[in-house]
Amino acid sequence: MAVPVVGFDLGSQSCYVSVARQGGIETVANEYSDRCTPTCVSFAEKSRYIGASAKQQLITNLKNTVTGFTLLLGKHFNDPSVQNVAKNVPYSIVETENNRIGIKVQYMNEAEVLSPEQLTAIQLTKLKEVAEDNLKCKVTDCVINVPTHYTDSERRAMLDAAQIAGLNCTRLLNDTTAAGITYGIYNKELPKPEEKPKVVVIVDMGYSNLQVSIIGFNAGKMRVLATACEPNLGGVHFDKVIFNHMVKEFGEKYKLDVLSNKKAIVRLMQECEKLKKLMSANTAELPLNIECFMEDKDVSARMNRVTFEELSGDLLDRVQVIMKQALTEAKLKAEEIDNVELIGGSTRIPAIKQIIQ
Ligand code: ATP
Ligand code: MG
Repeated sequence: MAVPVVGFDLGSQSCYVSVARQGGIETVANEYSDRCTPTCVSFAEKSRYIGASAKQQLITNLKNTVTGFTLLLGKHFNDPSVQNVAKNVPYSIVETENNRIGIKVQYMNEAEVLSPEQLTAIQLTKLKEVAEDNLKCKVTDCVINVPTHYTDSERRAMLDAAQIAGLNCTRLLNDTTAAGITYGIYNKELPKPEEKPKVVVIVDMGYSNLQVSIIGFNAGKMRVLATACEPNLGGVHFDKVIFNHMVKEFGEKYKLDVLSNKKAIVRLMQECEKLKKLMSANTAELPLNIECFMEDKDVSARMNRVTFEELSGDLLDRVQVIMKQALTEAKLKAEEIDNVELIGGSTRIPAIKQIIQ
């Protein structure tokens, strides 16, 4: 039997596993029949959980449930972005030798310090399992996606993680390039090689970052004309805007100091994300309710899309800057773009679609 080709999209919030078979690319489901596997590892007294089962423990096993660890790959402890992650997560990030990063957890009643590479490897082991369960054979060779702006050191860390997981990563593919390849495979009517290429803009805005690539397509050929990225502009930053608003409101209305309580922070961030997603589909004012939030108090607030967009003004402006930057770099006018492909969950925010348009 031919060796299957497997691709892992390892996002900072969620992962997808794809296999190439029967002339197409299929995104396969995990044991919950879900194509999406959360990027999350949780350590407990008796065992370790990965993916959906880990995410379920986010609140109950707060300090030992680790998310967002791909954001720490290949970085130094004193990197400002690492310090920013450290400030916002309930688990403990410590400095290890040579200014490297360690994540401190309690596992089987012992204190352990794991590197971001080790955590990523644990996540990859899960993805490998999902692929193997679907293909009913051993998987070793794979391709892994990384953000376009990943540095050499971040790329090397991802390759190390793959190796720890027992995988042979034959190639790291930039997120937008991977999307471009897929576009090329499924688009049968591309201009002939000698003709003017079809120009497509690929916008990927996920949980943590925004990447824009402009790609020229001819049949059997693609060329990246320009790329612009903003490593710190993604869905979580929009959640944070709602969060900050709610922290202020709950402070005034209920005299609660949300920032003093890690569990409250995580719960409120989850609810803000839910509210944000609902606002993508509704213009009406929507409620945010949390029972027994802090000091036995139930809290509630409301927000509509207009207010959300007002609060997100700075973030939305930055999206526009990146879009324009990509056009300038490609030396193209908006009219010269034939098509736009939106990928990544945050491109569902109506205001973002509007800016892109
Ligand atoms: P990254 O590529 O940044 O590492 P990722 O690939 O894990 O992250 P995605 O799965 O593409 O991220 O997108 C997740 C983000 O999309 C989250 O911030 C989520 O809140 C947001 N999102 C998903 N659905 C919607 C929606 N309907 N409206 C607004 N935001 C949404
Ligand atoms: Mg992504």
